Amino acid sequence: MLYGVTGVLRSYSLEHECGEQLEPLLRAYRDLVNQILEELWDNIEWEKKKVEGKKQRRLKPKYSVNIHSKEYKKKLRDSLLQEWPYAAHWVDSAIKTAYSIFKSWRKNYVKGDRKGRRPTARRLFARAKQTLIKLEGEKLRLTVKPGEHVYLDLSARYFPLPGEVSSSGLGEPVITLEKVHLPVHYEEATQEGNPSVAWDFNLLSLDGYSPETGWIRIDTSKLSSVHTSSFEKRRSIQRRASKSKKARRVLSKYSNRERNRARKHQLEIARVIQSVCGSVGLEELSKQGMYKRPRTWNRRILRSDWRSITQILVGRLGEAGVEELDPYGSSSLCSRCGWENNRDLNGADVFVCGGCGLRLDRQLNAAINLYMRLRFGYKEKWEGGGRKSIQLRVEGASQREWWDHTVLPSLLMGGCVLTRGGGAEGDQ
Ligand SMILES: [Zn+2]
Repeated sequence: MLYGVTGVLRSYSLEHECGEQLEPLLRAYRDLVNQILEELWDNIEWEKKKVEGKKQRRLKPKYSVNIHSKEYKKKLRDSLLQEWPYAAHWVDSAIKTAYSIFKSWRKNYVKGDRKGRRPTARRLFARAKQTLIKLEGEKLRLTVKPGEHVYLDLSARYFPLPGEVSSSGLGEPVITLEKVHLPVHYEEATQEGNPSVAWDFNLLSLDGYSPETGWIRIDTSKLSSVHTSSFEKRRSIQRRASKSKKARRVLSKYSNRERNRARKHQLEIARVIQSVCGSVGLEELSKQGMYKRPRTWNRRILRSDWRSITQILVGRLGEAGVEELDPYGSSSLCSRCGWENNRDLNGADVFVCGGCGLRLDRQLNAAINLYMRLRFGYKEKWEGGGRKSIQLRVEGASQREWWDHTVLPSLLMGGCVLTRGGGAEGDQ
């Protein structure tokens, strides 16, 4: 299926409980893939070739028949179908899978990264063609044989399904014994109907809030542990050999590795953010520095990760999709009544308001404060003694009324909790 250039395809993983039902099909599919790999392998003629710039010779694989021709593929398909007890489209899928395994083996072999041994499929999985799936409400119907279906429950999902109830917005899911990896197609990167969400970034989590989504928490502990473990490694090298050239080389290798690993996590976090909201409100970095004491190592790391994620989001959502918000007081003010906690908040998980008695997760409270700045707009005000305050432009109802009418119900309904474990996985 072809998608428009503006569309986005994202892949999500969900656990299912149909492993037992699906196991015979998955085993048969794997055997079929291996059978095709054998067929392809038998068509190879090995040709001795000189390796450029080297004395040794290497065997290069050449095909004795054109395995990409229509005729060859048709013959292969027909012969496989003879003893295939399941729906015919699984055979088409197995052919596609085997060809792609073979192609990547060949590419890697030619590069010298793989041995000249026939590749085999070991894991139990099957890729379902779109003709084999159908979305029925919260269930994904999978055709095993004509007239025989397995229903995978999607109700525990954390991602939106395509608007209409059909399979046209779905890519080809990959099914294993425990999970279904489901590619979902969305029309636009910034869907009109998607809500704006404000985000508060912390070392171990990223907390988002909007009345439409409720509280969204993204676990960022893996990103921060990339930095922690790299920090430990570099420190131990620095101690042992601070002046040697070799130590400096090793140190720079570790820094590069840290940057690359962190980048991977940053991209994924940005993708999860993008998947739940149309536009975002983020803490303005240049100002954040002044209030959140960037002197500690943790804060420096946090800022550089946050800066990278902001840049990724600006690249994807456009300048208009990302609004930077003054974070002043966002973690010390009560989002409901505006009471300010002047004591040190570090360490406390729960924000307890001395004015109206609200008790709320500290980071959620900060995210709600940021959301209100995004929604209503605000102005800075300087008071006597150089003290600053942020004044929301709430119209009509008071901040507290708005909180009780809009925020409270959205928290009772329960926001989704996104963790990296169950979150979006890499592209299939
Ligand atoms: Zn309060």
